[in-house]
Order: sequence, then structure tokens, then C-alpha cells
Amino acid sequence: MKAVRIHQFGGPEVLTYEDVPDPKPRKDQVLVRIRACALNHLDLFVRKGLPGVNLPHILGSDIAGEIVEVGEYINDLKAGQRVLLAPMVFCNHCAKCVAGLQNQCRQFAVLGNTVDGGNCELIAVPVVNVIPIPDWLDFNEAASVPLVFVTAWHMLVGRAAIRPGQTVLVLGANSGVGIAAIQIAKLFHARVIATAGDERKMERARELGADFVINHYQQKISQEVRKITNFEGVDIVVEHVGLATWEESVRSLKAGGTLVTCGATTGYGAGVDLRYLFSKQWSLLGSFLGSMGELHQVLKFVFRKQLKPVIDRVYPLAEIRAAHERLENKEQFGKVIVKP
Ligand SMILES: [Zn+2]
Repeated sequence: MKAVRIHQFGGPEVLTYEDVPDPKPRKDQVLVRIRACALNHLDLFVRKGLPGVNLPHILGSDIAGEIVEVGEYINDLKAGQRVLLAPMVFCNHCAKCVAGLQNQCRQFAVLGNTVDGGNCELIAVPVVNVIPIPDWLDFNEAASVPLVFVTAWHMLVGRAAIRPGQTVLVLGANSGVGIAAIQIAKLFHARVIATAGDERKMERARELGADFVINHYQQKISQEVRKITNFEGVDIVVEHVGLATWEESVRSLKAGGTLVTCGATTGYGAGVDLRYLFSKQWSLLGSFLGSMGELHQVLKFVFRKQLKPVIDRVYPLAEIRAAHERLENKEQFGKVIVKP
């Protein structure tokens, strides 16, 4: 099959379109022909070099396609079915997994991170990862959903326990997690303040349901939040930017508020003034992807058209370097897709 592999870590130039052997599915696996694979910021991190990645390596976490073949142990799926793949890798038999907490499994990983992913034509995965999709949902849309929607659902619902009527600040409305978080917060009838970097992205954030949008390059986030909330602050901050926005995010919290973070694309070394942490009784929470149960929960709303994936642009797999550059330059609003 055709695949894009990296043989060394580095810039987009290390992405190499080439022939590789077809995967051979085990008896408990499903072989899927990949029709679309969405990029995530994780792809950029893996390409630049993360521990645990064995070279050569195939990137790509968010996959949609058609079943080619099912292993003989599987009787509830068949060839030709249109599916998306859960991006999580886990043992499926430890105490955490059987309790439904797959993202706390000691073997937890993400497709395309420490195991080969979907920047190729075929992939063999365990049956638990394979989720049929409705006929009306096209492959590009389906591939745009799993990682960012389960991540945002776990952040807002699983970790921050969002309740109707709360005020939620969503950083980076143009990112996949931002787009998902705005919509999920609105699903819970929250008031949403989003941030974006230019007028076009601010308008798109409003279209998604954001009640207020702050230009995070021209305005001071915490000051604008204070104005909007009558000096109170927000109940929940959805953070994934990291160092560049951390201080402003923390300052935007009301007393008793919750900041939940799933990433740090601009740097890790953020600090916190402990005097404020205890006196304001803030909760600072970490979040990492989500459980299989949460993925099925959030997909229910996608399949009912109550949550909508947003696609930025689609590239042929062979032109993946341009797709990486688009994401790296923050030009996108929504998901960047590659098609084998
Ligand atoms: Zn496990």
C-alpha cells in the first residue's frame, strides 16, 4: 500500500510518500481501507520527535473508511461497512479498562503516536475501535470527529462537570478542540466566551455559537472576561494553548472556578501563584483524550446532527507536507484532512 512515513524527526520535509507492506489483520482485528485521516497538533509533535516513537513511523490519529475484512472472531461487523476508528489504544482487560477508564490504562496510547496511524491506505485495528457511521456522514466529516470531540467532552463533562447556565471560556476557537468545546458547552446551555486570532476566525466562532469572542492578539483576555462577566470571572476555562495563555486563563477564573487543560502547544513551563490557588479555591485539572464510553456519548450527538465537525481543507495524502504547513502556520479553522 501507499503510506506516508517518517524515517527521522524534523520538519514537513521528513514526511515521505512511499510503498510499504499491507498490514495483516489478526483474527480479532478489522482491516479498514482509509478514506480520510484528519490531522491534529499531535501529528506535528510526533513528527518533530516524541519519546516512544519507533522509526520508520506512520502518523495520523483520526481515521474514517470502509471495512475490507473482519477477523474470524468477529461476527457483528462486515466488509463494506462505513466506519470511523476510536483513536485510543489500550489493553482492554486491566482494572482501569474494564471499569471504562481506558485513558488511565497503563498501556494507553494514541493511534499514530506510539503505534502506526492512518496516513496510509489500510490499517488493522482491534474490533473495539471500530464504530459504524450513518450514511449521510461523509468520510471527511467522520475523520474530523473522534480525537477532538472526545477530548473536549472529557474536559467539559468528565472532568469539569459542566452544568447548565455556567460561563465557559474556550481558548483558540479555530482549533479542533476549541470548535468541539464551543458546541459542547452550548449543548449544555452554557454562556460561551471564545478567543480567536483574527476577524475571520472570530466570525466563525460566533457562527458556532460563541456568545462573545475575544481577539487574543489584540485584547487582554482576562480584562475582557472581567467586563463580560461583570467582574466575576468564568466557571470553566478550556485550556490547550499552554504557556502563551496560561496566566490569562487562570486570571479569568471566578472564585471556585475550574480550569481544565488537555495540552500545551505553546510551551509547558507554566506557573501558578499558590496564594490565589488556595484563596480563590480554584480547581486546576488535567485531561487526556477520553474513555470509550465518552466517545460513544459524544458521537450520539454528532450522529443526531447536534454537534458538527468543521472541515478546513482536504489534501491528497501525497501532499501531506502542505497540510502540515497549514496547521503549523495556524492558518486553519477546523480540521485539515488527508485522503489516501
Ligand atoms: Zn488497560
